Amino acid sequence: MECQKELGHPSFEPIVADYYEEALAYIECSKGHKSAILLQSQKFEVLLESAANALIEGYTLEAASSLSSAYERFFEFAINVFCKKSNTSKEALEETFKQVSKQSERQVGGFLFLHLLTFGTHYTLNKKIPELRNRVIHQGYIPTPDEVVSLGELIYSEIFTITALIKSSLSNEMQQVIMDTLQRRNEKIPQDIPRATTTGTMFFSLAMAEQKSSFQEALVSYKEARETVNGSVPFLRSLSKLVALFSKPNNPV
Ligand SMILES: [Zn+2]
Repeated sequence: MECQKELGHPSFEPIVADYYEEALAYIECSKGHKSAILLQSQKFEVLLESAANALIEGYTLEAASSLSSAYERFFEFAINVFCKKSNTSKEALEETFKQVSKQSERQVGGFLFLHLLTFGTHYTLNKKIPELRNRVIHQGYIPTPDEVVSLGELIYSEIFTITALIKSSLSNEMQQVIMDTLQRRNEKIPQDIPRATTTGTMFFSLAMAEQKSSFQEALVSYKEARETVNGSVPFLRSLSKLVALFSKPNNPV
């Protein structure tokens, strides 16, 4: 953005940056402009994408473990959305969640009852998920890629179904949860640093109008997107050099 202000057009310089727990990336362009990029993705979306990356690169244990964490954090997200519907205060929700934060089973219980209260119907969890999950998490079992895909399908399908329900019935509440997340992340950035927001993850994104309906489909599409992004880096690098050359005031060309 700072380059754009100076040049009057984008610099096209590709910048690859890592991000961690806070889903914030600090970047610096070749002209020394520093900025922060904020992802609006929820934790479960980041973990799903991390699982996809691990699986594509052959780290099956890490992929299964990220999937399992994504599943847990998804219930936290759903609980947050349900609580928005009942207008609970942030502080009361935080204090309540603190008491269940270390035991995922308690969170699942919270989700089931909030679902019952919100929609008036029961939600039946897939009973096959805990089996492989427990083997990986508690016994260090190293799954095959096919086993990860099977676990991925089960977890993805659960997330897909509940997300569709939330998007159709609690869209405003969902937006509020996303805004809260952005606000929290924004407060972590030092005041003098310019910032920009991105929708974030590509594997699964609440910001997209439609999601791929299966894990396998999402994986294929994500792999393609990853290759396109990586493949465009050398091209963008050349383009940004060319743009810089033509942008010079006394350019001889
Ligand atoms: Zn710049």
